[in-house]
Order: sequence, then C-alpha cells, then structure tokens
Amino acid sequence: MSTSPSYDEALATQPFKHEIDKRDRRALSERLTVIEHGPDVYQVYSEEGVEYLVDIRKPSCTCPDFIYREADCKHIRRARIEAGSRDLDAIGKEVQSALDALDDHIANLAAQRAELVSLQRDLDQFR
Ligand SMILES: [Zn+2]
Repeated sequence: MSTSPSYDEALATQPFKHEIDKRDRRALSERLTVIEHGPDVYQVYSEEGVEYLVDIRKPSCTCPDFIYREADCKHIRRARIEAGSRDLDAIGKEVQSALDALDDHIANLAAQRAELVSLQRDLDQFR
C-alpha cells in the first residue's frame, strides 16, 4: 500500500480545544443564585454565598474579575441569561459546532488507531 501526502494529511490531526468562552461556561454551569434587585440590577450569589451586585445595562459587577479585568464576568452573563437578554441559541450553535468538530477529531483519531493496529499485524507476520 502506498501512502500519498494527501492520505497522510487526511490522517493528520491537531490537538483539540473548543472555543466556548470560559465565562459563558461558568455562567451556565455554576450554581449561582440570581435575585432581581431593581430595573436591570441583580444580586448574584456565588456557590460560596458571596453576594455581587450586577447591572446588566452598564454593564458592571462588584466582583474582582469585572473590576480588575473589565470583562463581562460570569455574574453579568448569568444575570443576562436569567433576564432573558442573552441569545442562548447563539451559544447553543457554538456548542453544537464544537461537538461536531470534536466528533470529526475522534473519528480521525480512530482512523489513525485502526491503521496502527493494522501496521502492528503487518509487522508481526515478519517476526
Ligand atoms: Zn462579576
């Protein structure tokens, strides 16, 4: 069996790492408690019970992540989700796309494994 560059390229795989934002992942998965405090203002409690005050319109949050990194922290993202002002379909499409890419990656690894198992048998017949 001859191997062409295109065959090897087809087998070539890069390490897989999805691109779902870590703050989105935490906003969705952590057990945060969100209580409406006023128009666009929410009290968000961490899993440890620490309270943060979130304004989803400005946006602002009293947590260190927002204060020092000026990023939309998990509290702002979770309050937006609870307020219905976050496009969950967009996140859902990102997650599905990452799952599809991961499935391709797994199929690629399985093909490489099958080839190596076959190569091992080929080797054994010469021993
Ligand atoms: Zn925060």
